[in-house]
Amino acid sequence: MSWGDEITTNCEHLKRCSRCILPETTPNITFDKDGVCNFCHSHIKVQYEGETKLKELLYSHRKDSNKYDCVLGISGGRDSSYTLLKLVKDYNLKVLAVNYENPFTDPQAKANIDNAVEALNVDIVSFKLKNNVHEKTFKHNFISWLRKPSPATIPMMCIACKLILPHIIKYAKMYDVKCVVTGGNPYEYVSFKRELLNVSAEKDYSNLLIKSFGVKSFGGITNEILKNPSYCHPMCIPTMITGFLYGNPYSFGPRVLSPNIKFVDIFHYIPWQEDEVLSRIKHELKWESPSRFSSSWRFDCCVSHLKDLMYIKTLNMTEKDDFYSKMVREGLITREKALIRLKDENKLQKDEIRKLLDSIGIKDVSNLNGSKGEMILKELLLE
Ligand SMILES: [Zn+2]
Repeated sequence: MSWGDEITTNCEHLKRCSRCILPETTPNITFDKDGVCNFCHSHIKVQYEGETKLKELLYSHRKDSNKYDCVLGISGGRDSSYTLLKLVKDYNLKVLAVNYENPFTDPQAKANIDNAVEALNVDIVSFKLKNNVHEKTFKHNFISWLRKPSPATIPMMCIACKLILPHIIKYAKMYDVKCVVTGGNPYEYVSFKRELLNVSAEKDYSNLLIKSFGVKSFGGITNEILKNPSYCHPMCIPTMITGFLYGNPYSFGPRVLSPNIKFVDIFHYIPWQEDEVLSRIKHELKWESPSRFSSSWRFDCCVSHLKDLMYIKTLNMTEKDDFYSKMVREGLITREKALIRLKDENKLQKDEIRKLLDSIGIKDVSNLNGSKGEMILKELLLE
């Protein structure tokens, strides 16, 4: 693969499912005689529980004596901004917004948070992780990955962000709030990541949320780490353990250690509609995504650009292949439109990646012993 100014995946050269757009490089993909993939065959449409049920649930946790009705983590990205808007404007709830000051946040995401908080007049608390633990674990995990690049361990780059949920729970308890709202959309749970950990993605959605993040994926990731034990640095182990306990609201930590708190993901109840999400936050919250990126998805953390590079180099696809495939299967976008967007958006933001690596002091590629990872880094840095 050669590098252009911005590089796209070889999307024209890959065989893709004739119904969705998953490429032949997707882990565990098979095609039938018509070129339709196994993930399309096993797809079950997302079922929403409805806005009435959502409101009932949200209102049932309100207490008149409380300063706040619910707590919501916000990143400045599109989905958490929209969730905040819905809770405050549409449902008239008193929301405490919690922001983790991720050291790799894009400046526009910070501006979006400020604008949203001002427009909606909500309280916000921000917190940082102590001792640069995010920067240190990210750097360590990226160097470990370079020693043995594997697509299965790419999520390890984001392990420090798994420390956010325990903080959100802490703020909820501090204000006696029994409801934590999340705004992850149902198409974001990347199926190929589960396949890489030998957890089949061919499960129905609710089942998948409860079970596939549990014991099986824990076993899967442990297996992957054992193949590359350099991940197991004493500095990273506490973060890894917390990360596995609090990976998402359905993990062991929240369910067992905070049984009195109800976690509500609004997009389990109301459909996630990209046009509505974008149009409302742009108009009502002055939300923007940086014009230098063609996608408004996941620009808020600069690590996502590096992860795109890592997935392209190991699988010749990114999370967007999976995301848009799910949207095609749900009838939210045509296959043709998805292909056009993929071609446009699966571009590596090399300058962003270089800036990110520079910020954590990765410049030297001399001690990687000629591994595939060294080649990937050299290509990027020595160009
Ligand atoms: Zn398909």
